[in-house]
This record gives sequence, C-alpha cells and structure tokens, in this order.
Amino acid sequence: MRVEVLGFAGAAPLQGGCPSYLVGGEHTTLLLDCGPGALERLWARGLVHGLDAIVISHMHADHVLDLLPYAGDVVRELPGGRRTPLYVPRGDGPEVLRRLDAVFARDPDATATRFDAAFEVREYDAGEHLQLGELALTFAATEHAQPCFAARVSDGASTVVYGADGALGEPIVELARGADLLILEASFLDDEAAAREHRHMTAGQAGAVAARAGAGQLLLTHTFAGVNADGLLERAALSFDGPVAIAHDGYSWQT
Ligand SMILES: [Zn+2]
Ligand SMILES: [Zn+2]
Repeated sequence: MRVEVLGFAGAAPLQGGCPSYLVGGEHTTLLLDCGPGALERLWARGLVHGLDAIVISHMHADHVLDLLPYAGDVVRELPGGRRTPLYVPRGDGPEVLRRLDAVFARDPDATATRFDAAFEVREYDAGEHLQLGELALTFAATEHAQPCFAARVSDGASTVVYGADGALGEPIVELARGADLLILEASFLDDEAAAREHRHMTAGQAGAVAARAGAGQLLLTHTFAGVNADGLLERAALSFDGPVAIAHDGYSWQT
C-alpha cells in the first residue's frame, strides 16, 4: 500500500493544503478527505478523474471545501469526466452538501445538487464495511464537534489507519490495533484540557494511542501554522518508541 499527503494543515491552508490523503493499493486509489488545496494537487497528478472513491471523515470546512470546485462545471467537463463515488457521513454529509450547494445555486428550483451531478454520493457510518477494489475499509466514530469517522484501510497485507479529527478515546485505539501506519492528528502540543474542549488530540496523546495500539509507525498531522514541529515529535516519542514523522506536502509512505 502507499500513502501520499496532499494536505495536512488543520483549520486553514496556511503552510500547505488542508487534510487530504491519497491511499492506494495495487489497483485502487482513494482520497481520504478533500480539504482546500486537494483539487490542485489531484490535477497535478492526473487524478481529478482517476480516483476510485473519495471518503470524507466529517463535514468541517478544512476537510471538505475543495469538493465545491471539484463539483463545478469546469472540472466535471474535463476529459475523462465521470461520477466518482463520494462517501460522506450518514445524515450530516448530504445535509451539509445540500446547504453548500444552495449558497451558490443558480437555479433555486433544481432538485439535484452540483454534488449529485459530479459524484455518486453515498452515506456511511461507523458500522460500515466497504470493499473498494482490493481495499477493505472499516470505521470508528471519533469524539468530535461534528459526526466524524476514523478509517482503517487494508489490502490484506498491510493496514493504514487515519484517525481524522477527534479527542482521545478508546474507539480509535481499537481501530488502530496493529496498523502499519497510523495517521493521527496533533492539533495541540501538550494542552490536554484545550484539546478535549475543542475535541482534538495532543501530540503526546497521539503517541500514547500509537503505543497502545501497537502501530508500526506514527504520522502526526492536522498541525497548525507556526507549530513547534520538534516539540510535537518529542511529545509523541515520550510514549511511542516507533518511528514518528510529521505530515508535510508530498510526504509519502509505502510498504
Ligand atoms: Zn480539521
Ligand atoms: Zn474537524
């Protein structure tokens, strides 16, 4: 399997794109989240109409905003245009897409949204088992301000777990069990009270999850502009003794 970071920046694309990750098997390429910056990076790789599916963890702007131009006429009419399957959280996903479309809709009476025209919109939740090509996906709900799902992706030989956004909780530890690569948010350095209040995780908590789950490697992400990168790595390494890295534009990993 392979992973490439298209965006990692939490909240705003200040030092790079916002969360978007390519996860690929031998024949299948998925996009996990589609934050600001993702579309241009997909374009540069010839993947705008080359993805097998897009899976959205939750409907916060930093994880979905590039779906808006992605679903626009210009991109839809590019050569090779097709309706890529788009998986969104059950209930909340279609509702946010409907409201987002309404802001820019030219025809207020249209029944289908731009997202319906561009994608095959499908809903999922924590109980879903998806088989996308050779990649099997399972999910766990995280503790976040909006319904949010962490994803476990496996090709049968190796496993990548993407924690999305969320405070420290048992479901992510269980989902991450034995993952070869664990991608976890490190929105905060060490202020656990602030992290819990905002439903996010500290770098130290990410390290603790990786250690308890027995993960092979840890990739810290969802970092904020001006963050002390060395500090994040140090905090995570206090409890996790495997390799730890920080996500950056173009970071890639392969088994
Ligand atoms: Zn976020
Ligand atoms: Zn969020």
